Amino acid sequence: SSHEISIVFRSHSIIQASKLKITLAETLKPLVPVEDLQFGQTMTDHMMVATYDPINGWSAPEIKPYGPLTLDPASSCFQYCPNVFEGMKAYMGPDGKARLFRPQLNMARMEMSAARVALPLFNSSALLTLIKKLVAIERRWIPTAKGCSLYIRPTIIGTRAALGVAASDHATLYILCSPTGPYFRSPPPSLSLPTQKPNKTVSLLAVSENVRSWPGGTGGFKLGLNYAPGFAVQKVAAEKGYAQVLWLLPEVGEGGKVEMKVTEAGAMNFFVVVKRDDGGMDVITPPLDGTILPGLTRASVLSLCRAHTSSPSSSPSLPSLPPSLNLHIHERPLTMTQLLSYSSSGTLLEAFGVGTAVIVAPIGKIGYQEEGKVGETVIELPVWESEGGLGVVGEALWERIVGIQEGR
Ligand code: PMP
Repeated sequence: SSHEISIVFRSHSIIQASKLKITLAETLKPLVPVEDLQFGQTMTDHMMVATYDPINGWSAPEIKPYGPLTLDPASSCFQYCPNVFEGMKAYMGPDGKARLFRPQLNMARMEMSAARVALPLFNSSALLTLIKKLVAIERRWIPTAKGCSLYIRPTIIGTRAALGVAASDHATLYILCSPTGPYFRSPPPSLSLPTQKPNKTVSLLAVSENVRSWPGGTGGFKLGLNYAPGFAVQKVAAEKGYAQVLWLLPEVGEGGKVEMKVTEAGAMNFFVVVKRDDGGMDVITPPLDGTILPGLTRASVLSLCRAHTSSPSSSPSLPSLPPSLNLHIHERPLTMTQLLSYSSSGTLLEAFGVGTAVIVAPIGKIGYQEEGKVGETVIELPVWESEGGLGVVGEALWERIVGIQEGR
């Protein structure tokens, strides 16, 4: 489709994982107890680095002690932001094995993102080999408690040292690792706002004056430049007592009426569960139209829901849901008008955000400034009594996904 990009390889684009050089740190840092971990604050002992230049292609990759990079201040990454990253995790199973969760999907998305900002290409199979090597070296940092993991951040930045507005033909590829606790079950202080319900749900402020993405833009790619424009909006949401922004995208519908399409929230894709007249439930998420990040947790949630619906006995379906639950899965546009109507008719059962960091996070309320109305309309979601505040479907998904991630 129009938001896909073709990738053409040359021999220059090959990273040779077999040439990996490993220099281990002389002293190792003390581990941080899981309860003290805040997302992305603690880095492990080592990192992987490789560089690209147009004459030599990719350098031999190196795993070395974690530390600063030295870059020319004119580097493209500081000026025009050709910066790509991925977010993935390594999980320690009760069998003592470390596992990655569907890492090929992260690699494929990273290739697409790099191509979108014309960064040098790379063979993602070699990158995955290097990620595994680094994780093996950092194994002691993988927390063993359920729902905890080692977050992995592969990054590519453009390092062309010139101010001309042009594609960066130089790049640095690096991988960082950071141990993480369970994101929503013990939220970091930035999420523990006083207005939040005690059961750790996330509150969202639906915003349309500023948009995260637009048709033909870059919202469907994992680029650093998609995030900075959200920070000021995130601050406004926090001042109003909301934990995250629910990004809307205005669209002119039939008869010239402007509809507010729901896209995604923070670093999470957005799902709702709606009660049907026939006793079943609709599970709805907006479609991948190029304005939404194609989350791999989203893809996994859809696969699990569909497996549950089609043949619960043979597929990895949802353990705590009765097969008779009659789920109907929809990837379709979702508007604020629809959300408000589901809420007022009492059919809105659950809303949750999904992503690598949170896995599945329950949404407790959504604030929205309706046009022509004074003050915010607040959509309150039903309160569920589960440990983390998730509803029946969200909780079953959380359990199943974490079970797969940890090899249980
Ligand atoms: N949307 C955005 C904007 C994100 O940054 C993320 C996190 N990568 C997600 C959704 C969820 O994607 P994934 O499930 O691949 O982590």
